[in-house]
Parts: sequence; structure tokens; C-alpha cells
Amino acid sequence: MNEPETPARKLRLATASLSGCFGCHMSLLDIDERILALIERVEFDRSPLTDIKHCGACDIGIIEGAVCNAENVQVLREFRAHCQVLVAMGACAINGGLPAQRNHLDVRQCLGQVYRTEQGEVAVPDDPELPRLLDKVYPVNEIVRIDYFLPGCPPTGDAIWKFLTDLLTGRTPRIEHPLLQFD
Ligand code: SF4
Repeated sequence: MNEPETPARKLRLATASLSGCFGCHMSLLDIDERILALIERVEFDRSPLTDIKHCGACDIGIIEGAVCNAENVQVLREFRAHCQVLVAMGACAINGGLPAQRNHLDVRQCLGQVYRTEQGEVAVPDDPELPRLLDKVYPVNEIVRIDYFLPGCPPTGDAIWKFLTDLLTGRTPRIEHPLLQFD
């Protein structure tokens, strides 16, 4: 098992899911017991693993999911502002993936269909707590600069491990073809 050496200081790692299915985060957990070697090397900042709500200053940020609404834009910009290296993980983040299938539809028409009452009236919820939908779904690199792309739907645990160990040891991450997965 190829494990990163223990660093002089732990790097800070943040992860977030925008509009995705959390499958990429599930794959992150598929590194299994290697997560023990990972936490020797990194400290988690904002992540579903920590429940920290806002991203602090980080060495690495990993983003899953596409950009569908105003909250996604806010989270993504916060990550870009606080992470030295930003990684787009998975097809949704990289090219919009499944969420982008709504891009050939008109958002107003969709909402009109979904929120039509039995009486034929349209009652779209407009609570300020609900994030505003964007006109279409965007890949993350159309909103902020991305340093690395980790493809797959989802990338396998082995691919994520290879990617992270490359990054943590100062190598340019490189995923060979057998490790790429789209299913
Ligand atoms: Fe889910 Fe695939 Fe999108 Fe990852 S890339 S969030 S696994 S649909």
C-alpha cells in the first residue's frame, strides 16, 4: 500500500457537495482503512465528515457536484477563496453530469409543472431560505478556477487514494486508465 509520509505539519483538507448525489463522497470513504493514513497527513476542515459549516484557510479543497443554484455559487466561491488547491471531483463537478440534463428545459416551465395545484394555479415556493435556481446547471470551472479534475461517476476509492497520495507527496496527480470509472 503506497502511503504518504508523515508531514512536518498536517495539511488542511475541505470537501463539499454542491448539486450531486454524494456518491463521490461515498467513494472517498471507500479508501477504507487507508483513511487512517490520510488523517496522519491531513486535518479535515469543512466537510460532511466534520459538519464544519464554513471553509477556513485550507491547503486542498475538493468539490463534488454541479452548480445549480445561488447557494452552490456561494459555497464554491468560498472554497476558491480559502483553498490553495481546488479539485473538481466527479462528472457532475467537471461537466455538469446528471444534474445538467435539465439544461435543455426552461426552469420557469419546470417549476410551473412541478408546483401546479389541482386547481391549475402555480404556487412556486419563494421563501428566502430556499436557494434561487440558476437558469442552467454549470460545471464548477465555469464559475471559479479549478486546479485539478478527478474524473469518474464516481471516481473509485482507489482512484481517489492515488490522486490524494500524489497531491500530498507533491507529485502532479495522475490517474491511469484502469482506475477511471464511469458507472
Ligand atoms: Fe453522484 Fe456521479 Fe455526480 Fe459523483 S459524479 S455526485 S457519483 S452522479
